[in-house]
Amino acid sequence: MDLPFTEPFKIKMVENIYRSTKEERENWIKDASFNLFNLKSEQVFIDLLTDSGTGAMSDKQWSAIMLGDESYAGASSYYKLKDAIKDITGFNFFLPTHQGRAAENVLFSVLVKEGDLVPGNSHFDTTKGHIEFRKAIAVDCTIDAASDTTLWHPFKGNVDLEKLENVLKNNPSEKISCVIVTITNNTAGGQPVSMSNLREVAKLSHKYGVKFIIDSARFAENAYFIKLREDGYADKDIRDIAREMFSYADGMTMSSKKDAIVNMGGFIGFREEGLFRQASTYNIIYEGFITYGGMSGRDMNALAQGLYEGTEFSYLESRINQVGYLGTKIKVYGIPVLEPFGGHAIFIDAKKFLPDIPKEEFPAQTLALEFYTEGGVRGVEIGALMADRDPVTRQNRFPDLETVRLALPRRVYTNNHMDYVAEVVRNVFERKDQIKRGVKIKWEAPIMRHFTIDLERLH
Ligand SMILES: *Cc1c(COP(=O)(O)O)cnc(C)c1O
Repeated sequence: MDLPFTEPFKIKMVENIYRSTKEERENWIKDASFNLFNLKSEQVFIDLLTDSGTGAMSDKQWSAIMLGDESYAGASSYYKLKDAIKDITGFNFFLPTHQGRAAENVLFSVLVKEGDLVPGNSHFDTTKGHIEFRKAIAVDCTIDAASDTTLWHPFKGNVDLEKLENVLKNNPSEKISCVIVTITNNTAGGQPVSMSNLREVAKLSHKYGVKFIIDSARFAENAYFIKLREDGYADKDIRDIAREMFSYADGMTMSSKKDAIVNMGGFIGFREEGLFRQASTYNIIYEGFITYGGMSGRDMNALAQGLYEGTEFSYLESRINQVGYLGTKIKVYGIPVLEPFGGHAIFIDAKKFLPDIPKEEFPAQTLALEFYTEGGVRGVEIGALMADRDPVTRQNRFPDLETVRLALPRRVYTNNHMDYVAEVVRNVFERKDQIKRGVKIKWEAPIMRHFTIDLERLH
């Protein structure tokens, strides 16, 4: 018999977590204005809010931290990171930034002007924020299959090439900042983009004289799915697949807090020196000198090591199988869950879970609040609150997907924790008919409202 996969690591240090009571949680969430971002972390038992910056670093990463070179310019840590980025992504030029959105800020300061269009697959919320803040428009060209939560498609994150070509064909190229493809497609449910789709998107972009950028936060998970699902890649190494993906792009932005398994950090990779030089000025203004840009030397060292650990097949296999383990448990209970399961998270379909709650009462947020009060599990709403208002009409946008995302931190929780989470979700499912009303907005910020919103429960 084939032996099962298992974690290719053992645990060297533990952090105790507090198991609160339902009564405590009900008080805490009220004090937090029914916004899960407002909770203190010690008020959360299992924290699946995000997989961003929440991973556990390895002994090798911690030891790399001790070897950090904190020189202002030309630190050895910078060169170590430069070598790792070149090796893993193939990009010759890079700028360090303090996290992924900072990479977007610096790169978009060069590329995005007022009135521009930025087509791609579903833009991540900070990506869209940086585009809309510059009064440009993010055009979502994701394939239609992505909005069907039960349809099995191996690469639901793909760009619809016809939709993309329509945007490119019907607008002058100087109006298109760049084409940006997110791998994996987080907003569509952590769904991968195929190699052939990346190749075709690059071809189309270049045909119309537009730069092609990859938003790469989960590039290693994307490479894992290509290896498993795309013809011709089964025998290829994850790093070879990653290098091929990046070979089609003119640049990349990276949130290192995801697949590079560090708690803070990001970078921009560039094919050409010209764009790198233009962006360097903004990096100096916003982030720091070009050889540290928002990162300390020790953090660049940990990141260089993390890029290698995050692209190990055995690690990716155990991680993505843990996500699948949770997804399968929840599915077996008859709970509507987005399929295929994503690389970093399970997405529960709130429209189907709570069909009686109207979209104006934010069913996904309502459900996320129930998971918290039931068992101290913190997920996040990926739905209408996050989709925000239309920048022009100021009307609420109601996206096709209204989900609660349970994102798994890397190397942090065991499958016993996953069993617990599945039982919490099941308990809520069993009493779903008693959940009759949703929530109402009390206060919201003009942009990216979901982070700081105040809500009220309707009765
Ligand atoms: C997290 C993320 C970002 C932003 O990165 P931060 O490090 O959180 O600033 C951008 N794009 C995608 C796809 C992400 O997942």
